[in-house]
Amino acid sequence: MIRSLGILSMGGKSFTSVKPYSVSAEMNNRLKGKVAIVTASTDGIGYAIAKRLGNEGASVVICSRKENNVQRAVDELRKEGITVEGVACHVGNAEQRKKLFDIANDKFGGLDILVSNAAVNPGVSPVLETEENVWDKIFEINVKCSWLLAKEAYPNLVKRGGGSIVFISSIAGYQPMSPLGAYSVSKTTLLGLTKAIAKEVVTDNIRVNCVAPGIVATKFASAITSSEAAKEQSLSIVPMQRFGKPSEIAAAVAFLASNDASYVTGETIVVAGGAHAHL
Ligand code: NAP
Repeated sequence: MIRSLGILSMGGKSFTSVKPYSVSAEMNNRLKGKVAIVTASTDGIGYAIAKRLGNEGASVVICSRKENNVQRAVDELRKEGITVEGVACHVGNAEQRKKLFDIANDKFGGLDILVSNAAVNPGVSPVLETEENVWDKIFEINVKCSWLLAKEAYPNLVKRGGGSIVFISSIAGYQPMSPLGAYSVSKTTLLGLTKAIAKEVVTDNIRVNCVAPGIVATKFASAITSSEAAKEQSLSIVPMQRFGKPSEIAAAVAFLASNDASYVTGETIVVAGGAHAHL
């Protein structure tokens, strides 16, 4: 494992910060022979998850709404030596979702891992000022489509004798972030969905877990990470005083998807630089 150490000073105290590590040789084959679907995976956290699962030996099906983004991401991942297929899929479209499972079965022979990562946040407002259509869109994509993907993945995972589902929630699911009111509530819902499904499929040898990322400087989070003022406010809740990296979220997902997490189900791992995370 390659790690580099630095010293951060906060409030008179200093502590060691550990920079993100590279995948070590012994970890490379942890997911060998496994097939994974990762939604919303042509950029940001989803792309990093696809890359990490692929680097650990999984064959990966990636997707996002735009064909050109899919092609670019497939090309980049293949250059890394990853076995990957991609398809344009808006997770809200049933026919396009079906293609994900068809590709996993037809190209790779089945499915072992589902990572449900897609989410939207079409409007920012306090919960009680949110327009009904905005609320519906947030819950349709962030919650309903996560549930549908799990439902559709289930028979495929059963066929393989087991598998792993990972939902991507958010630190905002624990501590609603103003003004991401409705989005925060949708992410809290995923914590419950994780526990509910985990219990139902435990006898099928399927584990269901969740990762709650802290603030990661992707396009999705640009409103709370790009300007100096926004950055300062966002970091005020992060003891590590920095944003997360997509690869750091991907590392937690890879753990949960792998046999290293064989006794872990119904849980959420918070990857948020120490941000307070209690319901
Ligand atoms: P991002 O960098 O903006 O990437 C979004 C990806 O999703 C792109 O590949 C986009 O490609 C695709 N996409 C968007 N809508 C889609 C849809 N309806 N169906 C399929 N693909 C879609 O976003 P991110 O920050 O990585 O966010 C990923 C997940 O992490 C989300 O669930 C988010 O809630 C969660 N999260 C993020 C943060 C953060 O600070 N960034 C914090 C906590 C949780 P196309 O444009 O081609 O569709």
